[in-house]
Amino acid sequence: MTLYSLRDDHALHSARGHPERPARLEAVRERIEANRALVDLVRVQGAPASREDLERVHDPAYLDALEAFCENGGGMLDVDTYATRESLRLVRGASGDVIEIVRRVCAGEADNGFALGRPPGHHARPAQAMGFCLLSNAAIAARFAQEALGAGRVMIVDTDVHHGNGTQEAFYDDPSVLFVSSQQADIFPGTGAMDETGTGAGEGSTVNLAVPGGTTDAGLVGLYRETIGPLAARFRPDLILLSAGYDAHRLDPIGGLSLSVSGLTDLVRVVMEAADAYASGRLVLTLEGGYHPEVLGAGVASSLRALLDPTAEPADPFGPSRREGPDLTEITAHVRALHGL
Ligand SMILES: [Zn+2]
Repeated sequence: MTLYSLRDDHALHSARGHPERPARLEAVRERIEANRALVDLVRVQGAPASREDLERVHDPAYLDALEAFCENGGGMLDVDTYATRESLRLVRGASGDVIEIVRRVCAGEADNGFALGRPPGHHARPAQAMGFCLLSNAAIAARFAQEALGAGRVMIVDTDVHHGNGTQEAFYDDPSVLFVSSQQADIFPGTGAMDETGTGAGEGSTVNLAVPGGTTDAGLVGLYRETIGPLAARFRPDLILLSAGYDAHRLDPIGGLSLSVSGLTDLVRVVMEAADAYASGRLVLTLEGGYHPEVLGAGVASSLRALLDPTAEPADPFGPSRREGPDLTEITAHVRALHGL
């Protein structure tokens, strides 16, 4: 059984002209409802994440400030991150949905699932909103799995075109969470270089796959095949979370990579294979970026199809890039050497 969540009231988080807009999830909803191959998906909704859930990752002073900011009507938290009066309530709901799917998957009630929430979470730092993100959903779910469900080790993979700096920061010194993030090098937020590998006891438990602009399916899927399985085999996670971003698609207006819907689906499949082999199949996706609504809808639908049946052919209405991408052989060898794979 594959679960998903998608709240009807997400559109109350909205700012005029902003790329992180309600049309994103509405395109996803349309794709899910129109696709007969997705009829077996089971929609769930969790209780809003509790203050205790949030404080496992976020600084209480930050949560208080965010609550006051929303109560006062919201506005811009920084140059590109907004909140409305309703945003904290909505994002607590979205975070609670990730937790609910994790709870059900870890209890064996479902095979896997995909929490479809807005805004994304992976840039939210423990004490600061950032990059459209208010709460670090993946990190909150990982800590919930550890502290409420008894999971020892959690692996988080982040396919978004941007570095998951907030997730990285939450676990940088923690060997119990393995964070693997692929991103376009040298774009927002400016972190995520290969040599960021963790600190103290967490040394080696952060893996950054920084790739050049223009990278295509062949390059990134190849890099995933050479790293994700071996990392999971060594780490033996109790659960894998996937921060699923769709802004690495070639048509995305913000990112500069050249992946296709098929390629993005292959990334999910590689992580799914690792979950099947080393994490008892326990895999939960949480939505991050993706700013071309139709591409996002097709990408999420294709990922959901793969979660239901990994052998299904991906439906890719946009097709692959016609250009040849950069050769990632050297980057792959460097990452494998750096992390002893
Ligand atoms: Zn992104």
